[in-house]
Amino acid sequence: MIAILLGAPGVGKGTQAQLAAQANGWIHLSTGDLLRQEAAAGSELGLQAKQYMSRGDLVPDQVMVGLVVSRICALKADDVLLLDGFPRTLPQAEELGKAAPSGSIGLALYFSASDDVLTARLLGRGRQDDSLSVIQHRLTVYRETTEPLVAYYRNQNILHEIQADRPVEAIQAETSEIVKSALSQTETA
Ligand code: AMP
Repeated sequence: MIAILLGAPGVGKGTQAQLAAQANGWIHLSTGDLLRQEAAAGSELGLQAKQYMSRGDLVPDQVMVGLVVSRICALKADDVLLLDGFPRTLPQAEELGKAAPSGSIGLALYFSASDDVLTARLLGRGRQDDSLSVIQHRLTVYRETTEPLVAYYRNQNILHEIQADRPVEAIQAETSEIVKSALSQTETA
């Protein structure tokens, strides 16, 4: 089953995905981490991606779809994949829908928090692309381009919202519970 993690930059979905994957034997795929690894390794793709990332812009859909689809195709039937940071645009969501085996997208988890909480967390993180102006641009790009996916998955009846301005442990318990519940539904379907 594939669980899509949606939410603004800084909402904590990466931390949650990592914890849930470790605790439950699930796979965590973060496209941001993948791109940062590529950039650190100095690959052509990584160097190209770095330019977009440092500005707070999105890496082109074609590049991202290529990166993710090959990994989706390598999934085994009983794998649980927490997809963190993808899709971020409607075309990416549509390509994911085509590439994923029918019925395998079991849920979309939407982590929500106010802009003030998000900005404070991003500033506290100290990542290279976390300066105030880049953060503000990333939040704008998120609102304009990625947030419409909330409605897209709500219309597919697979959206669950999680209030992410609470302690990590509370969010973690809810995250794991929702994924497990979706998993049991796909198993009985
Ligand atoms: P993240 O670690 O998820 O915050 O991603 C860091 C940066 O990587 C983003 O600001 C984008 O520049 C790029 N990125 C990650 N995932 C995607 C995606 N699905 N589509 C486009 N750009 C992405």
